[in-house]
Amino acid sequence: MSPRIGVLAVQGDVREHAAALAAAGAEPTLVRRPAEVEAVDGLVIPGGESSTIDKLVRAFELLDPLRARIASGMPVYGSCAGMILLADRVLDGAPGQQSIGGLDITVRRNAFGRQVDSYETDLSVEEIPGGPVRAVFIRAPWVEEVGPGVEVLASVSAKGEDHPIVVRQGPLLATSFHPEVTGDRRIHERFVELVRDAAR
Ligand code: GLN
Repeated sequence: MSPRIGVLAVQGDVREHAAALAAAGAEPTLVRRPAEVEAVDGLVIPGGESSTIDKLVRAFELLDPLRARIASGMPVYGSCAGMILLADRVLDGAPGQQSIGGLDITVRRNAFGRQVDSYETDLSVEEIPGGPVRAVFIRAPWVEEVGPGVEVLASVSAKGEDHPIVVRQGPLLATSFHPEVTGDRRIHERFVELVRDAAR
């Protein structure tokens, strides 16, 4: 059976993730209301603008239902802004910006700096077989600290240091980049696998 996977649909590249999830064997559904949070087996938080998504999540009264489901083990995949929203700690947030949290990492928003607003590279990612993944970074965050339960699956070297950009903590997966724009479905397939595992 196809797991039913929600895409948080308040702002950002919602359609692209829904299409990628369908191609990866899931049944995608859009999540905008508290009741919809309860009705999914897993959730994708898309890229977009994390401070806007944060405001809308609170305005639509989704924050508490999301936190409750994450605390009880719902798998979540956050891409770019979604990584920021999943992080327990955010550096360089907009004034008043909060996160949903759950993933024991510190992220730095817009970490790559203005001069490299976006770039692409091929990256080997642990747990993703079949060769390097094309990673598209668009005003991306990176991870500055990870808690003990977090596995770093890929890093990039920038400004003279290695920075994690794919991490997983149990059923919570996050990438700084945007796999939904490349046509390579392996990151979404890995997430669908995490959702199937959690349902067992
Ligand atoms: N810079 C954006 C933010 O702070 C993230 C960009 C993206 O998701 N492509 O949310």
